[in-house]
Amino acid sequence: MNSIGIQVLNALRGEINDIDYKRYIKQLTYDEVESKSNLAIYRAPNPLIANWVRTKFADKIAHLFEIKTNVKPTVSILIQSTTPVMTQNPMVPQNTERPSGSLLNPSYTFQNFVVGDSNNFAFIAAKNVSEKPGVVYNPLFIYGGVGLGKTHLMQSVGNVMLSHGKTVIYTSVEQFLNDFTRHLSNRTMDRFKDKYRKCDLLLIDDIQFLSNKNQIQEEFFHTFDALRNENKQIIITSDKPPKKIGGLEERLKSRFESGLVADIQPPELETKIEIIKKKCEINRVRLDREVINYVATIIENNTREIEGILSKLNAYSQLMGVDITIEFARNVLKEQLAEKRSDITIDLIMDTVAKELNIKPSEIRSKSRNSNIVYARRIAIYLSRSLTPNSMPQLAQYFGMKDHTAVSHTMKKIQELMKNDEDFRMKVEELSNKVSIATNE
Ligand code: ADP
Ligand code: MG
Repeated sequence: MNSIGIQVLNALRGEINDIDYKRYIKQLTYDEVESKSNLAIYRAPNPLIANWVRTKFADKIAHLFEIKTNVKPTVSILIQSTTPVMTQNPMVPQNTERPSGSLLNPSYTFQNFVVGDSNNFAFIAAKNVSEKPGVVYNPLFIYGGVGLGKTHLMQSVGNVMLSHGKTVIYTSVEQFLNDFTRHLSNRTMDRFKDKYRKCDLLLIDDIQFLSNKNQIQEEFFHTFDALRNENKQIIITSDKPPKKIGGLEERLKSRFESGLVADIQPPELETKIEIIKKKCEINRVRLDREVINYVATIIENNTREIEGILSKLNAYSQLMGVDITIEFARNVLKEQLAEKRSDITIDLIMDTVAKELNIKPSEIRSKSRNSNIVYARRIAIYLSRSLTPNSMPQLAQYFGMKDHTAVSHTMKKIQELMKNDEDFRMKVEELSNKVSIATNE
């Protein structure tokens, strides 16, 4: 009889195409020893396969587990050679049980975190906390949108403290809740308290999920106070600031605001580029500058996409035995963009271009020769032609131009500029992606 982990992969085989199965899923081994009912650990031979499985198949795997066992585990894909970093100091006698599913990602370190204007404040705050835990800001509350590096930053502090032999617990609200319920029904609440109140650092990820869960809010409140009274560090992340979390007790909100609240904003283009370079380095993928810039314009704010894109590029290029040139990258990632570019209209393009370039949509359609407006108009025409099904005569009419030859002239002009001026090309690609994103909002 195969282990449950293998049974799940066999079931997955029926749901995905053969190539994906052979290339990725078949490479995985199930870690029977470390896995638990709520944590399924697989090992992949290299980071690329691991990342690819994480982004493409982890949800499906978790779902198949749920079908077979009624429990939806966290699916963790680790690299074969690395041993998982236990978040409990091995020097501490293990009379309390091991934290469930709380593995820190060893690559989430400060060194691997790219700092830019968008995340500088949160970065410095986390760095200070790692140097003086429990002293400077307690709690540290980091908030921001999906994929902006909150988990990475909080775990960076965790990794520093682990390396100093401290006991670190990393948990989600869900895990905390499950743990609580289990200990409650087993009448082992003292063990629960021991575990959460005796650690040196408690990392609670995505605290917004506490919303409207009264009993667990109460328990968390006491855990929080117990830790803080002992000057043990607490770091919390959320998708919004404490004030904006609905269904949360006032006393918790004020606790959350009592230390330091730091936000992370979406990265600027330059920061995205640096993050891609960093991810290339970590995953040992070689991309030249042009391709890196291109990838930077494709990704939205969610930096999580990067690893998926890198795996995809690398897998294709290995398969076909060719280098990753810009044309190759465009081709491989075409689908990715096509999915986003469904219902784009000229109006949407006008609004986006106007907003990004700080002018009014009406100015784009005016006859002004002001260079900023001419610039915006050209881009708007170019994007309308390449992203919407409108014909040249239709565009001429919309933009108040003489006829379709004027549109065609503008198209040629832009193509020429894009060929010769890389900054310009990046700007156009960035705007084009902003438009695609706007359709999903
Ligand atoms: P969040 O928790 O905010 O949703 P994560 O911390 O999970 O985001 O980050 C998503 C991915 O993007 C991770 O692979 C992370 O390493 C990467 N990432 C995000 N921001 C940065 C950054 N500034 N430097 C390096 N990697 C980053
Ligand atoms: Mg996160």
